[in-house]
Amino acid sequence: MDLYEYQGKQYFARFGIPTSPGGVADTVDQAVAAADAAGYPVVVKAQVKVGGRGKAGGIKLAADADEARRHAGAILGMDIKGHVVHRLWVEHASDIDKEYYASFTLDRPAKLHLGMLSAEGGVEIEEVAATNPGAIAKIHIDPVDGLDEVTARQWVDAANLDEAAREQAAALLVKLYTCYVEGDCDLAEINPLILTVDGRVHALDAKVTLDENASFRHPEWAEYAATDTDDPRERMAKEKGLNYIGLSGSVGIIANGAGLAMSTLDVVNQVGGSAANFLDIGGGANADVMAAALEVINADPAVKSIFVNIFGGITRVDEVAQGVVDALGRVDITSPIVLRLDGTNAVAGRQILAPHLSDRLVAQPTMLEAARTAVALAAR
Ligand code: GDP
Ligand code: MN
Repeated sequence: MDLYEYQGKQYFARFGIPTSPGGVADTVDQAVAAADAAGYPVVVKAQVKVGGRGKAGGIKLAADADEARRHAGAILGMDIKGHVVHRLWVEHASDIDKEYYASFTLDRPAKLHLGMLSAEGGVEIEEVAATNPGAIAKIHIDPVDGLDEVTARQWVDAANLDEAAREQAAALLVKLYTCYVEGDCDLAEINPLILTVDGRVHALDAKVTLDENASFRHPEWAEYAATDTDDPRERMAKEKGLNYIGLSGSVGIIANGAGLAMSTLDVVNQVGGSAANFLDIGGGANADVMAAALEVINADPAVKSIFVNIFGGITRVDEVAQGVVDALGRVDITSPIVLRLDGTNAVAGRQILAPHLSDRLVAQPTMLEAARTAVALAAR
């Protein structure tokens, strides 16, 4: 789960990582109040879960309340790469001398944590990696050993940060590592990490991805789940406990297992269609789960057909078929449904469905044929 910048900064603050004072605002008036509290000049920042906000015009400096009001009005409602801005973060502006980059993430093949540090921050790190890979100092950290100040200091030296920043940067990186490990992050990234003109090092941006497998030991993450997405389809799916991601096509997808769901998207694409979503109903595909899945997909006005692709393993196809039949009795589905049911108890499953089949509920023997039918129905 990705956090907004302001949430990431609040998360950082719990681990002692310095950030600028600021406040959240959902309206222009709140933004001016937050600016007054932070002290001018301020920077008004769009809160969307996508990078490159600065270039897109979602980050503006304001010298006084009038300017803060003007920028807040312009940025609220702005569309940044398909993300509409509903919330702002307003913080006291920093006087920047240098912009660096710092992050921790997991290097899976190496089975170690990976720290990346660069004196060339502010721009996208992918760009630095492509044009000037030598400017990124990498460090692998064994989770058993952790990161100590001495190692952090050597790392900072290797990255060639300015002399004035080195000691504070090393201390900050140890804290960022602690945040990454104890805070159960998949990614903790600061870009830019800055050295101010008056010689302070702090985080000007925050990108934090939490490892949801650890949510059982973080009851406080509930507040992040509440703001996790502004896609109403995803919010509805989350409430129903479904593993759903909204996409922009017209074929609604229901599959059991993330791998099958992804293959289903591929096959729909392959035959010339486009998926409206990813939806993995997991192992327990009973009537409740199926009804919930159909309800979420049915609520999406872009959906023109629904492709239910089930391969029974531990999940039994007869149970899924019964689930579909029961669900259809409960939810009024507007789009035609194409089913492909195979695997454990497939014959029994098809028998359960047989009396219910129509031009609104079509069964196909293979994934490819079902995809073709679903795409053809969506094109009508
Ligand atoms: P991103 O574009 O989404 O990564 O947003 P950032 O928070 O990283 O901000 C982008 C850029 O805006 C930074 O690299 C800075 O150059 C600039 N910026 C952000 N905050 C401040 C600030 O407090 N003072 C100044 N002078 N520039 C800022
Ligand atoms: Mn940034």
